[in-house]
Amino acid sequence: MPKQYFLKRGDKLRGPFDGQQVKAAIASKNVFSTDQISETREGPWQSIGDLIASAKKRSLPTVTQFEMSKTVFGTLVANYVCPFCKAELRSTEKELDGNEACPECNRQFLVSIDALAKLRSERQRVEKAQEQVRRKRQTKKEEKQREKERQQQQIRAQQRLKEQQRVAAAQRQQELREETETEDGNSIGKIVDATQAIGGLFSLFSDD
Ligand SMILES: [Zn+2]
Repeated sequence: MPKQYFLKRGDKLRGPFDGQQVKAAIASKNVFSTDQISETREGPWQSIGDLIASAKKRSLPTVTQFEMSKTVFGTLVANYVCPFCKAELRSTEKELDGNEACPECNRQFLVSIDALAKLRSERQRVEKAQEQVRRKRQTKKEEKQREKERQQQQIRAQQRLKEQQRVAAAQRQQELREETETEDGNSIGKIVDATQAIGGLFSLFSDD
């Protein structure tokens, strides 16, 4: 069954028409570019203007031969030639939108979606590599920082240990001093005891 079309302007619906009738209506300017067209009464609707634009686009030549290269500043570009005047052209990912106009001859043409896809995937590959390098650098930096903190902790632990040792040594000295003082007291007692013992001995001998 051949395709049929409906035309709509505001709330007025006309049709069905066949393709030839629609073409004739457009050619004779019996329809406006703002009029809506659909293959069913219910839509979806598209404006005649959009329909003409996409038909024009479909009739444009498509560039399928291109080469990737990098500019001196590292920007990726697709190199190709104008299908009309053969001018050597190049576009960045941002510049490529599929529908190009030649700056030399001003004629319109299409560039295969493959060019954009290639530019995009190459950019993503480069960005991924850069991200990996950046992450590696970050990890190294963090490791260095951790090592530094570990060393500082070690130094602090050593300082604490030294301080503890110093306090312990001071305590021991203090204890020793106290012990000596008590011992001095004791030794007097001992001397007294010893004298008494010796005295006792003497008295033993003197008894002989
Ligand atoms: Zn050209």
